[in-house]
Amino acid sequence: MFAAEIVDMDVDKVIPKCPDCGNKLRRIARKSPAKGDTHFWGCQGYPDCKSTFNDKKGKPEFRKVASKGKGAAKKGSSKK
Ligand SMILES: [Zn+2]
Repeated sequence: MFAAEIVDMDVDKVIPKCPDCGNKLRRIARKSPAKGDTHFWGCQGYPDCKSTFNDKKGKPEFRKVASKGKGAAKKGSSKK
């Protein structure tokens, strides 16, 4: 009785959305990969929205860049 048409839009759900504008993100190959960083995520709202995210195991890495001040890493590291 239950016509279980489990949507083929499933793929659609999987695609992460831009936290800024709500558009879908897309995975983009980097031109110059660094340290296994072969892809990144860009917003399909580009160029209106220029949000990009690092690719982490096939998913965009949303990280908060909000709070400045605390947790400033490596301040004045004197490497030579
Ligand atoms: Zn966006």
